[in-house]
Amino acid sequence: MKNWAGNITFNGENIVAPTSLSHAQELIAGATKVRALGSRHSFTRISDAPTIIDTRQLPEFLEFSADRTSVRVNASMTYGRLAELISPLGLALTNFASLPHISIAGAIATGTHGSGDANKNLASAVSSLQMVTGTGELVDFSRGDEAFGGAVVSLGALGLVTSVSIDVVPAFQVTQTVYNDLPIRSMIENFDAVFAAGYSVSAFTRWRDIEQLWVKSRIDEPMPGASAAVLEALAKATDKQHPLRELDPEACTDQLGVPGAAVDRLPHFKLDFTPSAGDEIQSEFFVDRRYAAEAIEALAAIEGKIKDAMMVSELRTVAGDTQWMSPHTGRDSMAMHFTWVPDQAAADAAAQDVANALTGLDARAHWGKVFDPSQFDMSSYVDRPRFLQLVESLDPNRTFTNEWFEEYVG
Ligand SMILES: Cc1cc2nc3c(=O)[nH]c(=O)nc-3n(C[C@H](O)[C@H](O)[C@H](O)COP(=O)(O)OP(=O)(O)OC[C@H]3O[C@@H](n4cnc5c(N)ncnc54)[C@H](O)[C@@H]3O)c2cc1C
Repeated sequence: MKNWAGNITFNGENIVAPTSLSHAQELIAGATKVRALGSRHSFTRISDAPTIIDTRQLPEFLEFSADRTSVRVNASMTYGRLAELISPLGLALTNFASLPHISIAGAIATGTHGSGDANKNLASAVSSLQMVTGTGELVDFSRGDEAFGGAVVSLGALGLVTSVSIDVVPAFQVTQTVYNDLPIRSMIENFDAVFAAGYSVSAFTRWRDIEQLWVKSRIDEPMPGASAAVLEALAKATDKQHPLRELDPEACTDQLGVPGAAVDRLPHFKLDFTPSAGDEIQSEFFVDRRYAAEAIEALAAIEGKIKDAMMVSELRTVAGDTQWMSPHTGRDSMAMHFTWVPDQAAADAAAQDVANALTGLDARAHWGKVFDPSQFDMSSYVDRPRFLQLVESLDPNRTFTNEWFEEYVG
């Protein structure tokens, strides 16, 4: 079995797909080394182990809290499916990754995020979860529990997450408008105004200028004056665009300022469009947004070095959170995403070049994407020792610890 991108063939010899909770408990209790597999959208061996639990056959369920501010679902559900189930009831999720096809459990395990100055990563919307530990026992965690900060962005190392409660809000409408050709100098000088222009903003670049600015605005929120002034100087796209301008935008969510449901505008790609199975590899790095200017300048300076490996890059903002292993823990962040050509050696080398360029800016890396762990200082995660203690106490036999975890987390 391969991951979505096809750059990883899992070594796991025993790939099992439980069909019930008790079946999953039985399989885990009888195994020595196990990992759960979500929708396979990570780019590394993070999900690999001798026994891999493919969670996609576990039964679907959906239960609302009495006040309808939270919904409890099977953890293997995708964000797109969840949105599809709650939209007809007038409810919405607060944010999405670029793709709605990603499983909830897999996304929260790595701190997957969307964009938005006030939007935390997707794990932050989780209020409780249940997991099966290495001995097959069920354990529950809720917001407010002492260990909750370590339980959601778990890197798959604590157990098999089976159910998740997620915050939901009344449905809201969003428009998506694309602006072209923002000079990189202007991006640096107007960083706050640019990212305040919408509820969720993405800037696509190949590090010469910002080729496309995707502004996703709630129709009930006005644009701040400083943001409007920056955008007025730019050309508003009159045709739909793909992040790579030369590609067909059919798969992209609707643009041109037409209002639509959050699920149909916040992800870049449409739910009902099956994305091609991976002709790319990705890396992503995060700095405290205080260092946004330095980071952008550093990356623009190595444009010539990484351009052959790079298809496109994307800047987003993510609000800080309190999850121990979240790449956004303790700081409002700027995310720098890279889509690389499907050449592992080229992607690895370019990811190293980027990490080198970010030296001194206390960068962190996306857990689900390609990076060289020797280039990152784990002391940036101040709660990592607590997390390792949690791993030890929940999983003393290290059933859920795999080679990736030993190498990348310790
Ligand atoms: C096209 C594309 C677009 C992307 N866009 C974004 C984006 O916008 N923002 C972003 O931050 N990332 C993005 N990613 C990265 C992606 O969100 C992460 O890699 C995410 O972790 C993938 O989730 P998954 O369900 O595929 O999990 P997998 O890749 O299958 O697994 C990831 C981790 O979750 C664990 N896991 C999965 N299910 C369970 C479970 N039930 N219990 C316990 N652990 C579990 C696995 O063991 C593993 O450790 C993108 C990836 C792709 C391919």
